[in-house]
Amino acid sequence: MQIVHVSAECYPVAKVGGLGDVVGSLPRFLNELGHDASVVMPMYRSSYLYNHDWEVVHKASSNLGHWWFDYTVIKEKSNAQGFELFLIDINGLLDREKVYGYEDDVERFCAFQIAFANWVCSWKKLPHVIHVHDHHAGLIPFIMQHTHAFKRLESVPSVLTIHNAQYQGSFGWDKTTYLPHWDSWKRGMLEWLGAINPLASAIKCAWKVTTVSNNYLGELKHMSNGLESLFEYEKGKCSGIINGIDYKVWDPSSDPYLNDHYSPLSFSEGKSKNKALLCNEFGLDPRKPLFVFIGRLVGEKGADLLPQSIHDSFQHIGRKMNFLVLGSGETEVESGLSLLKNYAKQDYNVYIGYNEKLSHLMYAGADFLLMPSRVEPCGLNQLYAMKYGTIPVVRETGGLKDTVKDMGEHGGYGITFIHPSVGDITHAIYRATELYHQKETFNNNRKKIMELDFSWTRSANDYVNLYQSFY
Ligand code: ADP
Repeated sequence: MQIVHVSAECYPVAKVGGLGDVVGSLPRFLNELGHDASVVMPMYRSSYLYNHDWEVVHKASSNLGHWWFDYTVIKEKSNAQGFELFLIDINGLLDREKVYGYEDDVERFCAFQIAFANWVCSWKKLPHVIHVHDHHAGLIPFIMQHTHAFKRLESVPSVLTIHNAQYQGSFGWDKTTYLPHWDSWKRGMLEWLGAINPLASAIKCAWKVTTVSNNYLGELKHMSNGLESLFEYEKGKCSGIINGIDYKVWDPSSDPYLNDHYSPLSFSEGKSKNKALLCNEFGLDPRKPLFVFIGRLVGEKGADLLPQSIHDSFQHIGRKMNFLVLGSGETEVESGLSLLKNYAKQDYNVYIGYNEKLSHLMYAGADFLLMPSRVEPCGLNQLYAMKYGTIPVVRETGGLKDTVKDMGEHGGYGITFIHPSVGDITHAIYRATELYHQKETFNNNRKKIMELDFSWTRSANDYVNLYQSFY
């Protein structure tokens, strides 16, 4: 089957979070199963663009309301990622350094989606499935089904995957002219709570909707930033498919970002060397258990709870552990974490910013990964951590609940807690510190998590079954 993925992110071209990881790997696994999956994304000014060779495959023009724009579709010549990768270039709109965060993001992503539909409409043979990801591509199912200009796409099945329902891309009706002409009685297919809501529209218009874990889908019916009743209403076409991870990128025995490689047979020595390097770089004591946090410093990830939890752990448990935080996000959280350095120099450090290489070293060198998330659609960090022998300490929510079993349960291998509160986090840190000193149990557990299988193989098959259900 020919499947076209449309997304704002795709690793290694442009990644802000888990969406990039998924779109950068799922298509390759679909191709390994014998399908023809490709990715279409905006052409940002990324280093990937300048370091690869491209060919122009299509040039045309389209309109965003009254504004006519030219667009160019380029294709990466070598299929370096294991799938065909197409970038849509719209001069002045998409060719920026960052993926998101511009005042004209609505215009940028509307134009991208219109250009995509315009291009696909010109194909001789239409794809079997158009698979859109998150709200930046969320207007495509509406455009395919309800706009006059793109009527030809009406019969192509569309799938929406929701990586994060907190972000919905809503904008006002004053921008309605951005959309290609449609019959006004279809207004309900665009609207949610008085605005044009691309995510809600995609939930209504896509043939099937998936979320990146089963548990998250259940949670969305009760807590989805205003879309609760919509998820309840559309539940018949929704299902959860857990993300896999790409072991070609995330494997401590071959990770190019690491100097010291290791496998489940040599993890003890390998992890110690990575830990020593990390502790040396950040002024920490490698003899103490090392807890790390990697991610966006936002309330959704529970990052605002970290300063107080770390402070309380030192107060109640003692200076028996180290913490290292990597991330960027809300200013107050960033400054709270930076200020903590004055209080706990030898046992704590923070790197504010995005650093792919450092994240790999942290997964390899840490003993525990903290994830006190309030919302976690799937979570990839805990899966990477386990592959690298780092024990996840996570809140029981979303995909974390589906992938991490507490050690107290039969067959468990992680440390979990229920509430996103300083008390629960501190208690979990206490449990982890105790575990660290029970060397045999600690090591057996590290080996066990490294051997768990969270590869794409099963999930890619689930997507194939979903696509095949249309035919
Ligand atoms: P989300 O997409 O909600 O941010 P996920 O757990 O799905 O969370 O994916 C997070 C991905 O982003 C992981 O690959 C993680 O290692 C990476 N990441 C997050 N913040 C940083 C950072 N500051 N530096 C390097 N990698 C990061």
